[in-house]
Amino acid sequence: MQGHPNPARNPAHHPVQNNVVIVGGGFGGLYTALALAQRKHHPPVLLIEPNDRFLFLPLLYELLSGELRGWEIAPRYDGLLAGRGLAWLQDRVERIDAEGHRLHTAGGRTIPYGRLVIATGAESNTFAVPGADRHSLGFRTLADVERLQRLLADLRQQRRPLQRIAVVGAGPTGVELACKLADMAEGSAVIELIEQGPQLLPQARAFNREQAALALRRRDVRLRTRTQVEAVEAEAITLRCQPDGDSPAHAETLAVRAVVWTAGLSFRAPRIDPAPACDSRGRLLCGPDLRLRDHAALFVAGDLAAPVDPEDTTPPATAQVAFQQAPVLAANLIRSLAGEPLEPFHWKDLGEMMSLGVGEASLTGSGVTLAGPAAYQLRRLAYLTRLPGRSHQLRVAAGWLADWPA
Ligand SMILES: Cc1cc2nc3c(=O)[nH]c(=O)nc-3n(C[C@H](O)[C@H](O)[C@H](O)COP(=O)(O)OP(=O)(O)OC[C@H]3O[C@@H](n4cnc5c(N)ncnc54)[C@H](O)[C@@H]3O)c2cc1C
Repeated sequence: MQGHPNPARNPAHHPVQNNVVIVGGGFGGLYTALALAQRKHHPPVLLIEPNDRFLFLPLLYELLSGELRGWEIAPRYDGLLAGRGLAWLQDRVERIDAEGHRLHTAGGRTIPYGRLVIATGAESNTFAVPGADRHSLGFRTLADVERLQRLLADLRQQRRPLQRIAVVGAGPTGVELACKLADMAEGSAVIELIEQGPQLLPQARAFNREQAALALRRRDVRLRTRTQVEAVEAEAITLRCQPDGDSPAHAETLAVRAVVWTAGLSFRAPRIDPAPACDSRGRLLCGPDLRLRDHAALFVAGDLAAPVDPEDTTPPATAQVAFQQAPVLAANLIRSLAGEPLEPFHWKDLGEMMSLGVGEASLTGSGVTLAGPAAYQLRRLAYLTRLPGRSHQLRVAAGWLADWPA
């Protein structure tokens, strides 16, 4: 797997750098940095990330509901990286000069690299629906959580007239969020879950889909399938409903207090010169070893990676995949610097876990199928072991034990 047909892009033809630079401190980037730090003789590693906190996105619902605290799911990078021989630069990468083996940041820095990992993830995609960018809320950042918490506090205080919140997209994020919102609204708002496809959670296991449908029904969340969003305004959403059978499609405009957009991803790499090959969704094409096609010193991790798998099973854009990639990628970076052959990454589907309202969850995988409060506790424990860094895991575990009712 080593060696490259184009000598102009081969690292051997550039001033030798033995450092690794990682762009993006999410699941792909941070966990690769941490995996490198565990290797006995690791090269100098620099993580470039504009935010000061890592965000453990699968537990964002619990942050919204107050079941977990900010420091638990959003630890600071300086604390996570301290004492591990990993450097962090708070900046944003704007351009990667792949032939010159250097990158340029928004803060005006030019940084050379030996090997570069691009792990800049994805952001929400509103598919150019008129007004959606301007008038809908997202659910990916700490600021999104704070906005929703303020909205729910207002709704609980006003109560009348009854308000409506529309959640767009009945994938995992939309379903999990709709359940938490319904519990937190305490009857002060109707939650509508809008899905353009014929059913909720099209990719999920049947058990989780059934549990999710049950959880939505118990909370009176109104699920509208075969319904497309046509436009979003400050206080209204226009829908095009396509009923089953031969009935004609019809449009409907609903008054809303808020729209939360969870449907769709748009992949966001910094500019790379020369431009690498992408798939139709804008993800970077890489080999099974996670090295970018035609760029011997560039690697990709997380949502942005589209491995060309000989078995044609492209893994989904999930934290679970990024988490599994990290140790393989760390080993490949070291092998690549040493001129050794690289290993392929194989994704193992470990199952799926879903939060379904306050204190409830559903999970399937590793021989377990479970729903309700026990699944909620199991999910929390499973994520505890996935939090970044042993010392952060121990601090969080100590906090949970202290909260345990005597
Ligand atoms: C609400 C929510 C819940 C989820 N729940 C689950 C779940 O239960 N299970 C699961 O497996 N997956 C879940 N996911 C998906 C999972 O979070 C993503 O698949 C995962 O975060 C992808 O990791 P990543 O490193 O590719 O990107 P991210 O984690 O998004 O990280 C990308 C990082 O790159 C940084 N960045 C972006 N551009 C630049 C730049 N130009 N320069 C420097 N840094 C940059 C960003 O600030 C960010 O920190 C969830 C996602 C969301 C939004």
